[in-house]
Amino acid sequence: MKGLFARPAARRAGLALLILGLLAFPYAEGNDADIDSMANAACYAALALGLNIVVGFAGLLDLGYAAFFAIGAYFYGVFTAFQVMPHWSSFWQPFAMLHLVEKLNQGSGDVVHFTLSFWLALPLAALVAAGCGVLFGAPTLRLRGDYLAIVTLGFGEIVPIVARNTPSVTNGAAGLNGVQAPSLFGYNFNVQAIPYYYVGLALVALLMFVSIRLRDSRIGRAWMAIREDETAASAMGVDRTRLKLLAFAIGAAFAGASGVFYIAKLQTATPDMFGFPVSVMILVMVVLGGMGSVWGVVVGAVLLTLLQSWFLPDLTDWTHALGEQIGSQWLQQIDFARSTELIFGVLLVLMMLFRRDGLIPAARGSAALSFEQQNVAGVQRGGFASTEAAEVLGFAAPGVGNLLEVRGVTVRFGGLTALNKVDLVVPAGGVVAVIGPNGSGKSTLFNVITGLVAAESGSIRFNGAEILGLPPHTILARGLARTFQNIRLFANLPVLDNILIGQHARLRTGPIGAVLRGPGTRGEERAALLRARGIAGLFGNRLTPRLQQTVSHLSYANRRRVEIARALASRPRLLLLDEPTAGMNPAETLELAEQIRSLHKLGLTVLLIEHKLDVVTQLADTVVVLDHGDKLAEGRPDEVRRNEEVLRAYLGRAAREALDAA
Ligand code: ADP
Ligand code: MG
Repeated sequence: MKGLFARPAARRAGLALLILGLLAFPYAEGNDADIDSMANAACYAALALGLNIVVGFAGLLDLGYAAFFAIGAYFYGVFTAFQVMPHWSSFWQPFAMLHLVEKLNQGSGDVVHFTLSFWLALPLAALVAAGCGVLFGAPTLRLRGDYLAIVTLGFGEIVPIVARNTPSVTNGAAGLNGVQAPSLFGYNFNVQAIPYYYVGLALVALLMFVSIRLRDSRIGRAWMAIREDETAASAMGVDRTRLKLLAFAIGAAFAGASGVFYIAKLQTATPDMFGFPVSVMILVMVVLGGMGSVWGVVVGAVLLTLLQSWFLPDLTDWTHALGEQIGSQWLQQIDFARSTELIFGVLLVLMMLFRRDGLIPAARGSAALSFEQQNVAGVQRGGFASTEAAEVLGFAAPGVGNLLEVRGVTVRFGGLTALNKVDLVVPAGGVVAVIGPNGSGKSTLFNVITGLVAAESGSIRFNGAEILGLPPHTILARGLARTFQNIRLFANLPVLDNILIGQHARLRTGPIGAVLRGPGTRGEERAALLRARGIAGLFGNRLTPRLQQTVSHLSYANRRRVEIARALASRPRLLLLDEPTAGMNPAETLELAEQIRSLHKLGLTVLLIEHKLDVVTQLADTVVVLDHGDKLAEGRPDEVRRNEEVLRAYLGRAAREALDAA
């Protein structure tokens, strides 16, 4: 399948055929029930697309997604059914002129009947559901993983309960009846299957378009960064609260619109239609199709809906026939349509065992590169060639004075003092190295500077402004970028996307811009892509041939390089490197040291944690020694090497003798 649709021309032809087939379907298939099943499938596909944004793109497990479906459905239901009918007054006159309400004469007097247009209800319900998504998400999205799942589960249960217990608005458990059927240019849809089928088709096409546009944008990349590693995402400039809320709101909007469509088609709404099993079913559709895969979840939704409405009844009939043939009473009593939950469960287990990424996986696999492919780019060893690197990286001049000032910073984890009143100054244009035994607080120092852990006291000023207490994404935007000691890349994304996410804070595209993709957005994307390729290109054939490879498939040293490239993409003024050469062989260490040196020459200020003393001596103008959270010494590398206390605490006698001999 992938091979077949690899070429754009073949893909376009395939898509055209599919669209023609879908448009012709109702005329080829005369059976109304089958067309209706397809319309239902479209509704579930729309729901699955929405949940895919929440679960597949942003990685937020939502077990109560049907709540938003219910909100959209009841929104349209309440504003068209004959349930809520206030007394008529002149207040309603303008609404009547807009055809939003009509005057009905009941025995007791004139009342208002809401007649909200289906076409208006679609976007309105989407907005209302999105609003509910934000209201619900704001306090809960701080939770991660299982906790979020439990809270959403609760929300999913609450909404139908509220519908059941507010009979004055929703008619309680009996539900709304006489929900208005849509009409278009005077043509009433009524209970015919064909017009709903086409509306469903259009809805799915629209939501697929929106999903794909979002996926391939700054917003989609930020969602996937959150999904892959929330902490790294925020350290790379992604405002995770905002983006998670956005995913939640857009997912809810899809469900709201689907709810309107569903209820208009059915013309009744009861609380039972939106319970937990529905949320689970939509989730199974997403998992079956392939989490994060737009085409996948649509296929998953259609397959599961048709399985229920076409295949299971047929299978039941066949089993009964077989039972009659062989005279088995038991076979004649089986009804597969009643055990859909069981069948879903079995399907899910099978998927987890044999095809974990779904029928149409979102991520492309990375094939091993041939010798030629590995050498498409020139070999680039040692430092970055200055002119092209200067152009690609575009660092500002370092300026004068102190770029970073850490004063009296204390960090405690329970009873453990990880940093004790630490002072540290990084002059603009300098290279400062932090050394110290394991557990001395070096990484904690980086974490507190970049906003990942909170300090108990102290002050951190960057470029003259206090940054202590700011969230990590704001700190990145100010111009501090970092790498992690135990590499934190977005493991299931390609190298190119990792570097693009590094630019998140420097790009502007919002969700609407991403969907519309106007000239401004396209220009920004093109420039970002060019820059990402340029930065990868600095590492020559180490990264250039591997831009489309999933990061988790790279060698260890290459992952370190990608992490540095990602940090450089954010246009930092200060780069914090946490043991960048750990795990590299001597040749690779030398190469990286050269590269750091050339970055420094290009105007970047560097703060470095490093164990390899030769690298430190080679690069740093100042060395700071930490021990048990205290600053033990500070000075030029050769001074620190001779400092008695440092030698005692850090190097031990053997190392000291080795140093003296050197
Ligand atoms: P280094 O990078 O110098 O090896 P760290 O900064 O990683 O040291 O750790 C300093 C001390 O703080 C260690 O004792 C470590 O166990 C502790 N520590 C670090 N992070 C946390 C955390 N999130 N929670 C509790 N203790 C921590
Ligand atoms: Mg560390």
